[in-house]
Amino acid sequence: MANLVAIVGRPNVGKSTLFNRLTNTRHAIVSDEAGTTRDRQYGKCEWNGREFSVVDTGGWVVNSDDIFEEEIRKQVLVATEEADLVLFLVDIQNGLTDLDVDVANILRRSKLPVVLVANKADDGKHLYDQYEFYRLGLGDPYCVSAATGSGTGDLLDLVVSKLSTDEIDDVADGTPRFAVVGRPNAGKSSIINAFIGEDRNIVTDIAGTTRDSIYTKYDKFGFDFYLVDTAGIRRKNKVSEDLEFYSVMRSIRAIENSDVCILMIDATRGIEAQDMNIFQLIQKNNKSLVVVVNKWDLVEDKSQIAVKTFENAIRQRMAPFTDFPIVFASALTKQRIFKVLETAKQVYLNRTIKIGTSKLNEVMLPLIEATPPPSIKGKYIKIKYVSQVPNTQIPTFVFYANLPQYVKEPYKRFLENKLRDNWTLTGTPINVFVRQK
Ligand code: GDP
Ligand code: GDP
Repeated sequence: MANLVAIVGRPNVGKSTLFNRLTNTRHAIVSDEAGTTRDRQYGKCEWNGREFSVVDTGGWVVNSDDIFEEEIRKQVLVATEEADLVLFLVDIQNGLTDLDVDVANILRRSKLPVVLVANKADDGKHLYDQYEFYRLGLGDPYCVSAATGSGTGDLLDLVVSKLSTDEIDDVADGTPRFAVVGRPNAGKSSIINAFIGEDRNIVTDIAGTTRDSIYTKYDKFGFDFYLVDTAGIRRKNKVSEDLEFYSVMRSIRAIENSDVCILMIDATRGIEAQDMNIFQLIQKNNKSLVVVVNKWDLVEDKSQIAVKTFENAIRQRMAPFTDFPIVFASALTKQRIFKVLETAKQVYLNRTIKIGTSKLNEVMLPLIEATPPPSIKGKYIKIKYVSQVPNTQIPTFVFYANLPQYVKEPYKRFLENKLRDNWTLTGTPINVFVRQK
């Protein structure tokens, strides 16, 4: 199970700078990620072979200069409910403030591991200033400079040592793991109730972390499936529901632990920025997707044209990934609830597809021959062979070529589209690599 680390602290202490430093550790390793846009909200950190997710609470406020202190307190509270560890940043050059003391009080009340980080310790000059932070009652401050990187390696050693090593991911028994995600009030709890009924026909309850069960196995409508983190979704925190950060923190764990995400959209509102944020979390984690346009009972114009217009609008927002199913449903009237589960199941099958090498070459090589990669600097690029890599998280295809470095993104997209045209990969991301023959 992935661990989640939240960076909290008042504005300008260096949260975003530290976030970039931590998430870049992975950036250097996973080169295929280069080029994807990096934001300061959510990322992965890899250190000594351990991976964890990092969230920068400051990334969820539009203008960090005039955030209300109340909002910061709420964020810290949400972080303590949802994260596994908190990095509490203070500014050694600026010294202790009242808001630091407030935040420390919230953190001390939670049972979560907290690492107190005194940032901006760029040189020895400020080291004596660390002692005032003992007043926060959170133990020794850890002096770092997020800007220069000094001390961050030791900090990472400490963080990794405090994270749990439970491998709860071990439900890979061929049963799909579905996560229902979406912004507040989209209808997540309602659809879960519609799926499983009030009787909650639970087959197995796998105890997860100390907080909630992560996976619950159901046998409904003839499907076996796990629902991820249902307890977390059902248990609502009314105080913080209006915070976007809250719905994101709620989603992260469920998304990370799922195979297929059922993204709930409110038909009466359409797609908004908050839906897009959750969609991006799904993409960053390489999860498969079913979009459910919920509350369809409230929409008057259900004509074919209205449906098409709605569908197109969604796909346009989510481009370039557009090959996913959209189901128009109502959790309230239970209209197409079965269809949602059936579609999620099909998407899981697409995600785990295994295409035989001979069939793959038989279909793809003639297509490549008809539309070969454009020659570059008078050099002809020849793709000779393709195979699917076994045992990968998402379907992964390697095309072997004489000059792989000359096969550019547009042609890789062409290859991906041809794979999607010829096999059912709907709803699932795939990898296309070109390697030296
Ligand atoms: P946030 O609002 O907490 O996310 O803070 P930022 O990461 O945006 O940093 C606020 C300011 O502090 C920026 O001008 C940073 O360049 C600066 N800063 C961040 N880390 C350090 C550090 O380790 N040393 C120094 N001297 N400045 C830093
Ligand atoms: P969550 O916050 O995403 O878990 O959303 P809820 O399941 O709590 O639903 C939020 C509100 O929308 C509740 O008042 C539900 O009764 C209502 N609701 C959910 N699904 C539907 C639906 O399909 N149609 C209608 N009309 N209302 C719905």
